[in-house]
Amino acid sequence: MAIIVLDPGHGGSDSGAVYNNYFEKDFNLAIARETKNYLSANYNAEIHMTLSSDSTVDLAERVNIANNLGADVFVSIHINAGGGTGFESYIYTNVSSGTESFQQAVHKVVAEFYQALGFPDRGTKRANFYVLRNTIMPAVLLENLFIDNQRDLDQLREPGFAGRLGERIGLGIAGAMHLTTSISPSAPEPDPEPKPPLNAWDPQGEIERLRRDGLVANEYSPSDPVTWGQFATVLNRLRDSL
Ligand SMILES: [Zn+2]
Repeated sequence: MAIIVLDPGHGGSDSGAVYNNYFEKDFNLAIARETKNYLSANYNAEIHMTLSSDSTVDLAERVNIANNLGADVFVSIHINAGGGTGFESYIYTNVSSGTESFQQAVHKVVAEFYQALGFPDRGTKRANFYVLRNTIMPAVLLENLFIDNQRDLDQLREPGFAGRLGERIGLGIAGAMHLTTSISPSAPEPDPEPKPPLNAWDPQGEIERLRRDGLVANEYSPSDPVTWGQFATVLNRLRDSL
């Protein structure tokens, strides 16, 4: 089964970027949790996080977690800062084409989500980041909006946003990795056998139904009298068929 490592940037004593008392680490963790929940609920894959609560985990440890697990991909989740707006993603400067296409696939799905909200796609980029350089599997780092831009920050703070973004990141990862869905399509209900409407009065038809189903052997007309012998036989055939 595919192994995915999600890396919420910063945490614990390392807050990441800070603006007006908003900490990058909190957004990163919330988004990564939502991504994990979405992937776990919908796809056949094993999802790990380098940290699952607000704790200090250094960069070497994050890399070791992914490398030791033999992860198939590593996705680091961050918020940008330093003047700007929108979304961009990073891979290491010198990577295989597999990493490049992984970045392209994830980036496209997430950038479309941001563009629909009016935030620019700043593009696919390369950088010499520690976690990208030292992980041995395709690794991408996502910079989600700018914490020090008021409009971007308002979007990050919007209730439910982490959930929607996490789902999009998950969708991007699942598409890039061709993950199979864990949800089996529900089988359509079979049509119930049509029954005659209750108000239809068709005595000859009723006798034919009994004959067809083997409860009576002979052809009878609706006005024929019934003996106790016939009646008991029909009742017992009914009982035997239950
Ligand atoms: Zn960061």
